[in-house]
Amino acid sequence: MPIASSFPPIEIPGADIWSFLFEPLLEYPESKAIFVDPYASRSYTRAQVKAAAADFGRGLKAIYGWRKGDVLALFTPNCIDTPVVTWGCHWAGGVVSPANPTYTAEELAFQLKDCGAKALVTQWPVSKAARQAAQQAGIDDDRIILIGDGRDPDGRFKHFTSIRNTSGAVRYRRTKLDAAKDLAFLVYSSGTTGLPKGVMLTHRNLVANLCQLRVAEVGDKLSWKGGLGGDGDKILGFLPFFHIYGLNVLIHLPLLVGLTVVVMPKFDIEGFCELVQRYKITYTYVAPPVVLLLSKHPAVEKYDLSSLRMLNSGAAPLTRELTFAAYDRTKVPIKQAYGLSETSPSTHVQPWDDWDKTTGCAGRLIPNETAKLMSTEEQEVASGEAGEIWIKGPNIFVGYWNNPEGTAAALTPDGYFKTGDIGYVDAEGNFYVTDRVKELIKYKGFQVAPAELEGLLVSHPNVADAAVVGVFSEDRATELPRAYVVPSPGGARDEGAARGLTDWLAARVADSKKLRGGLVFVDEIPKSASGKILRRVLRERARDESRTA
Ligand code: AMP
Repeated sequence: MPIASSFPPIEIPGADIWSFLFEPLLEYPESKAIFVDPYASRSYTRAQVKAAAADFGRGLKAIYGWRKGDVLALFTPNCIDTPVVTWGCHWAGGVVSPANPTYTAEELAFQLKDCGAKALVTQWPVSKAARQAAQQAGIDDDRIILIGDGRDPDGRFKHFTSIRNTSGAVRYRRTKLDAAKDLAFLVYSSGTTGLPKGVMLTHRNLVANLCQLRVAEVGDKLSWKGGLGGDGDKILGFLPFFHIYGLNVLIHLPLLVGLTVVVMPKFDIEGFCELVQRYKITYTYVAPPVVLLLSKHPAVEKYDLSSLRMLNSGAAPLTRELTFAAYDRTKVPIKQAYGLSETSPSTHVQPWDDWDKTTGCAGRLIPNETAKLMSTEEQEVASGEAGEIWIKGPNIFVGYWNNPEGTAAALTPDGYFKTGDIGYVDAEGNFYVTDRVKELIKYKGFQVAPAELEGLLVSHPNVADAAVVGVFSEDRATELPRAYVVPSPGGARDEGAARGLTDWLAARVADSKKLRGGLVFVDEIPKSASGKILRRVLRERARDESRTA
């Protein structure tokens, strides 16, 4: 029997994101700052974001002839201008494809080419890689748009403020959208297997998840007028805006509810603690490695974190032990939520009041969400047993971009999405995620697609074959990518060769994809009769090796 959400079903409006966020009458004061830059002392109210986004959208139409479905790629650290260009692109009928700003030019070029980006938004400090990637993808300099405070001294790239002020653009109108069909975002995820793929999220997907979170996550716990001093809840926005988790809960949800987001371009634990103290942050979204730092790092002792009423951890598993280790030190409760890029992202949220009763659980199904737990034979498992989590709901993506095979493998004809995660559910509807059947490795919440690293490794002349798996590090509260490599005939297999290959790979990938779990030479990669890498065998081997190391 499918497991239904214990929440009553909710109505999902048929509006696109712009209409949903900006058309209703404002429920919180007009003067309330929603996005705050704590370093440049800049901020946006809802009205300011709306006006700036509409102007940017008009500029896109006037300068580039922006059309419905045109893709705007983003390659930028967190910035308070990101919401403006995101919703400005939606205003003009476009689709936003955010990329990790630590990507190498080659990694970014892959995404730009795959999504067919028409323009690229970046910031001056990372614009070198952006430009190299844009050149590879055939995007001219005049389609590279800067946000943030930096300008291009050579004047090759436009700043988004100049696009906002395009003369004669007032005549353009907002593009009408079909919320159920038109795409809002193309976020990249490797899904269960292979290389990163564009996850097609419609306007309805995002609007649905916002409505679901407004009930299951916000409820009567977060508000524009709650918090200390009655000026509303405040969130620290350091999770990356390019990942669906940050994109939803740090950009969309706060504007909907009227929460203030203090935007941090780059996480460091001391900066986190200092901003919590300075802004009296009441609630924030984290990933397990941050919980680890809160439980151990000396900087934590130096600051007053007492304004924090709760943290929400997501993007990777968080253990009961670590939750309590951090709580014992900080007295800040920590709950969890679970989701994926393909689910916009949330499907499960742990109720605030349950955090210490069901610690370690990933949450309960949010409204309008149904799940099944399936065996490897794709049969529902018996009650209480673990199986692959399949999910159905209005927030489930509509498919992978230009990838009908990937879509067919991920979505069933009756609308269930196969998550590739293993879990079980207790009698109260609490889900526990216990394992993963998919290849995906998560380093500190960042996706690492083994196929990508394997592809690079086998392109090296000294490598005959390679497989990459994740090995969990208790010390770092994260998985680490570990490579098993068959050297080319006669090739070296000593420590120096392993280090050389590790460094060679490190120069070609984003920092999060480095082989922090090590590189081991082997005689062969275990494979099934059909040639598929037996990852489970390697994961068990990696677990044993790390235990004895
Ligand atoms: P992404 O598409 O990058 O959001 O990655 C989704 C994957 O992150 C899921 O399939 C899980 O493997 C993992 N994940 C997310 N949240 C949790 C959680 N609370 N507990 C365990 N794993 C999680």
